[in-house]
Amino acid sequence: MKTIAVLTSGGDAPGMNAAIRAVVRTSIYKGLKVMGIKKGYNGLINGNIEEMNLSSVADIIHRGGTILRTARCEEFKTDEGLNKALNVIKVFGIDGVVVIGGDGSFQGAKKLSDAGVPTIGIPGTIDNDLAYTDYTIGFDTAVNTVLDAVSKIRDTSTSHGRAIILEVMGRDCGDIALYSGLAGGAESVIVPEEGFDIDVVCKKLIQGKNRGKLHHIIIVAEGVGKAYEFGNEIQEKTGIETRVTVLGHIQRGGSPTAFDRILASKMGSRAVELLLEGKSGRVIGVKGNELFDKEINEALKVEREFDRDMYDLTRILSI
Ligand code: ADP
Repeated sequence: MKTIAVLTSGGDAPGMNAAIRAVVRTSIYKGLKVMGIKKGYNGLINGNIEEMNLSSVADIIHRGGTILRTARCEEFKTDEGLNKALNVIKVFGIDGVVVIGGDGSFQGAKKLSDAGVPTIGIPGTIDNDLAYTDYTIGFDTAVNTVLDAVSKIRDTSTSHGRAIILEVMGRDCGDIALYSGLAGGAESVIVPEEGFDIDVVCKKLIQGKNRGKLHHIIIVAEGVGKAYEFGNEIQEKTGIETRVTVLGHIQRGGSPTAFDRILASKMGSRAVELLLEGKSGRVIGVKGNELFDKEINEALKVEREFDRDMYDLTRILSI
């Protein structure tokens, strides 16, 4: 193993830069040459690749987004696309690839590995929707971004005595809603993993108001959808003025938290070590405080277990 390349793919996540930095600096520390592939698998197919050095990753640990840019690349899913990529890998003398991204990006990584290119995946996605790992890079920052919004919205909602519906990201995975709901003291959390009854939400709102509560924050995961419909229904049923805020892409940006920077640094460095140990077709995860690696298909097969205890606690603490 003489030359390692790194790419970021799929949705960006804060902390990806810290992971790139760790891959580049660990590689150089170990005496390897390191290349940056731009715009995910697109760059691999088109040879949009540049050698990186120590200063290529200076001053990026605190930046959101990804300096390598990211993209979705349909062509890479085809045999022609894969063959083009394999050709580029050969031409550039790349001996191993580190892919930072979500489950789609990992499927691409698996194809590279099956084609004989040593490849290691690092989980980078704000949704925390990769069940094999406790945390993905970017999730903690996204939760903190939502928390900041909850605090601001709470101020104005209290002043007017309004109910607020806050839609956060998470298509199939309600973790952003759940974590920010518990940390932000939301009255209700609505996630795709759990059914809910709008009348129960309304009853809680009315009871809270009768007790003198001045605000009511309902966090809805994007996967449940219908935030505006909920807003109208709740206002109609309770008579309490209700406003809807959809946070959107603001959750994908911003300076990564210490947690994400540390996770990304550890995972980036581990990816290089795994390649040097001759490993391939594996992804890195974290359980408790320990990193581990797992075969890609095995990792993607792990079914998500919703943290019902945390969900119940959010409910109990917001009575
Ligand atoms: P994420 O990695 O965040 O889940 P996507 O699902 O959009 O994002 O996947 C990112 C990219 O990974 C795709 O645009 C494509 O280039 C590549 N990819 C996804 N699925 C596959 C697949 N089955 N085979 C090869 N490449 C894939």
